Amino acid sequence: MRIDILGIGFDNVTMEEAVSAGMELLRGETVGYVVTPNPEIVEVCRQDSAAMDAVAGAALVLPDGIGVVKGAAILGTPLKSRVPGIEFAAGLMERMAESGYSLFLLGAKPGVAEAAAQKLTETYPGLRIAGTHDGYFKEDAPVVEEIASSGADCVFVCLGAPKQELWMKKNGHATGAKLLCGLGGSLDVFAGVVERAPKFWCDHGLEWFYRLCKEPRRIGRMMKLPLFLLHVYQEKGKRR
Ligand code: UDP
Repeated sequence: MRIDILGIGFDNVTMEEAVSAGMELLRGETVGYVVTPNPEIVEVCRQDSAAMDAVAGAALVLPDGIGVVKGAAILGTPLKSRVPGIEFAAGLMERMAESGYSLFLLGAKPGVAEAAAQKLTETYPGLRIAGTHDGYFKEDAPVVEEIASSGADCVFVCLGAPKQELWMKKNGHATGAKLLCGLGGSLDVFAGVVERAPKFWCDHGLEWFYRLCKEPRRIGRMMKLPLFLLHVYQEKGKRR
């Protein structure tokens, strides 16, 4: 059952359940994609119906970010857990390495996906990388073709939101992959280009603050968080 937060239905799953659901999709017959909205993306979707449709079309909608979990609690419909996209990806890669599935890395600046591939194969021995492509291309068709001919079972689509969600909805089927996951800046972290917040900050729901200190230019984007909370309280008022 999905939990509605400002128009987006989130799957109420733990990390383990999310990874198992991802593996189920990989084994299945149809194509599915995973999205990991944070409060900023929820706010984008409220303004952009195409983005909202793309998120709604996902097979799995994971609550990335403490703000979403707080929002659910405020609305009186708590979510079991926060499921950060990057941790979901790590869990999935561990299982894919054991099961022999192959992965295509799409996104980030030129060279980053290759560097991520190198590091990931060291971290997850047995992980098969089907191919890589940077995220700054003009036409979809040649990239879709490259993924299809790589035979990848899974694609990490890291183009930023809502570009990656729209891309997966439009091109998912044509890639021939069973599973696509929209994972924002994850390739930068896997490649070691960007550092993830230390565990203490993540565990205390302060990852957003750490990122803000490291990249103050994100302030405009982060102002969506108070706006999100304001909308949640307005929604709570309406539901009474
Ligand atoms: N990106 C891309 N193509 C684009 C725009 C962005 O590949 O046209 C990449 C960008 O290089 C970065 C990622 O998408 O690696 C987005 O990172 P961001 O930090 O914005 O994502 P978040 O993790 O905050 O969702």
